[in-house]
Amino acid sequence: MISRDEYRRQRKRLVQLLIAEGILRSPDVIRAFLLVPREEFVTFQHRLYAYYDNPLPTFMDQTISAPHMCAIMCEALQLRPGDKVLEVGTGTGYHAALCAEIVAPKFAEKKGYVVSIEIFPELVRYAIENLTRTGYIDRVKVICGDGSEGYPPEAPYDAILVTAAAREIPKPLIDQLAPGGRMVIPVEKGWRYQELLLVKKLPDGSIRTEFVTGCVFVPLRGRYGRS
Ligand code: SAH
Repeated sequence: MISRDEYRRQRKRLVQLLIAEGILRSPDVIRAFLLVPREEFVTFQHRLYAYYDNPLPTFMDQTISAPHMCAIMCEALQLRPGDKVLEVGTGTGYHAALCAEIVAPKFAEKKGYVVSIEIFPELVRYAIENLTRTGYIDRVKVICGDGSEGYPPEAPYDAILVTAAAREIPKPLIDQLAPGGRMVIPVEKGWRYQELLLVKKLPDGSIRTEFVTGCVFVPLRGRYGRS
């Protein structure tokens, strides 16, 4: 058994590494990475590897993203306290907890929240358990459904993160971004190559897309993914 303190030391070492690599930069994101216990989200048999900078298998052939990828996505989204965030692909709930810690820190007056949608009911149950145990469930609303269509009842969103690879950017997600909003989404580009894109909706409603990095994600399912 690894003690809580030992996990905390490992978490700090990983954060220092991601800072040295220039991946973690902003104080709010660094704070969230230091606080959210990844060992509580990975499956029990993978706890020893919670602070390796790798993706890990979860259930239903799905994965939890590597910490550096969560960091790249959180930094690109420029999340701030008060933001309303949509996550497509809850998985374990880890990335949703990170976002919640950034947009709704306990001390902030302006509290945002995260709406996270997952297609597999088994993973919805697993994420709710993890978010409840770690104290984030009051800041994350977990929905079971097809997130390739977004989640209109709570739209518009200041930020959207898609954690599964789409064939192309689903139009409903662009529609559900607020003016000034940001979205990160992995998009397939040919055989086994994916690009993480940052999509910005400018205040006048026009769209600007930037390349962030190459990446590997599980496929997005559903109506605007692989059905
Ligand atoms: N963000 C997760 C990792 C997600 S892996 C974490 O922190 O653990 C991608 C997830 O997207 C998987 O759980 C998969 O089941 C889910 N997914 C795939 N297509 C989806 C869709 N159309 N709607 C909602 N979730 C989807």
